[in-house]
Amino acid sequence: MRAEIICIGTELLLGQIVDTNAQFLAGELADLGIDLYHKTTVGDNLPRAIAVLELAWSRADLLILSGGLGPTQDDLTREAVAGLIHEELQFNEEAWNQVQNYFKKVQRPLVESNRRQAMFPKSGQVIPNHLGTAPCLLIAKENHYLIALPGVPRELKGVWSVSVQPFLKGLLKQEHSPVLTSRLIRMAGIGESAMEGQVIDLINSQTNPTLAPYAGTGEVTLRITAKGFDESANWQLIEARTAKIKERLGAFIYGYDKDNLETVVGRQLKATGWRLATAESCTGGLISHRITNVPGSSAYLLGGVNSYSNELKMKLLGVPAEVLAAHGAVSPETAQAMAEGIRKLTGAEAGVAATGIAGPDGGSETKPVGLVYLAVVLPGVSRVEKKIFGYDRLGNKEAAAQAGLTLLWQSLKELGY
Ligand code: ATP
Repeated sequence: MRAEIICIGTELLLGQIVDTNAQFLAGELADLGIDLYHKTTVGDNLPRAIAVLELAWSRADLLILSGGLGPTQDDLTREAVAGLIHEELQFNEEAWNQVQNYFKKVQRPLVESNRRQAMFPKSGQVIPNHLGTAPCLLIAKENHYLIALPGVPRELKGVWSVSVQPFLKGLLKQEHSPVLTSRLIRMAGIGESAMEGQVIDLINSQTNPTLAPYAGTGEVTLRITAKGFDESANWQLIEARTAKIKERLGAFIYGYDKDNLETVVGRQLKATGWRLATAESCTGGLISHRITNVPGSSAYLLGGVNSYSNELKMKLLGVPAEVLAAHGAVSPETAQAMAEGIRKLTGAEAGVAATGIAGPDGGSETKPVGLVYLAVVLPGVSRVEKKIFGYDRLGNKEAAAQAGLTLLWQSLKELGY
């Protein structure tokens, strides 16, 4: 099956928003083993949208559309699809029920223009969207499938995982196409080339499963992908390869697939029964932000202090004036005193701290922009780490938060959690 992604929206062409939907859809299609040869973007213009759809219909079997399913005049995806397949739009009862149910659920009044969202091409089938007003559209015609999804990323992802992905899996099975199964191994505390060096023989000799390394901010991943007609046979291949990788890189593996450091650290903290508090300077609360992204984090996070100034470092965290005077705010001594101070202030058993120079100004020869000290203090363990990042201000902040979480994960792991 050959797919094409078509994103509809003038704001995409004007550079006002980043096309994260195309990125998401491309990744999902790759995971399913569906070939993607083209991604197209078109503005809110009916003749141009129809032309783009006609071209896609001529060269792909599966068209995935994003955007333009809203109630306003410039939401023209339904019209464009009708134009493509030479059908009239007609009122679709099922789509209308869905629109009504959604408005009932969120207790908002329906307006007349919402009826537009229930105007479907005659052969259009409704794909439910429980996260927004726009019912999604499926066309199955002339050995082609067209699936129109909403532009709002949260809705698009929701409809994808609940309805579209299972539908496509079913189609692939019917076609007796081989299925792709993959696992992402997530690692921190090791660089991409060092990681690749450990498994280069496996990468070079790969056939099935294949191995693909990828580097993100402060973490690296290895994707293992198996291809075959039987999903359980694929999993056997993946398990065997995972075991081999674990032998070599086990110390750096923090999780798999959708895990991230904050979910893993959350699991570790739950196992300890300890509570965590954060003392952040250059990260401005990013560590705390990431910890609180995890549902249920109130079970182990007490809170934190965003101690950007020396004044608050002393006043709230009890960092001694002499330490600041002798070593400066960006120093291992201050980082350690911040982590100890937040434990004292809050009564938390676990403290994590970050202090550094995010830039672009404020660096010196001995303390360059990007220099960060992270500290973790746990019962029986105290660790400080120095890092130098070379990103812009936001990049340095994000990398520092990632390094703080990595140090926390490593420290808890060393204790056996
Ligand atoms: P709804 O009816 O639910 O609003 P829609 O299908 O009409 O959805 P659009 O009006 O095209 O969608 O887009 C809604 C918003 O979704 C846009 O303002 C934009 O913020 C976001 N969006 C649209 N397309 C994309 C995309 N390709 N990538 C990321 N965000 C997008």
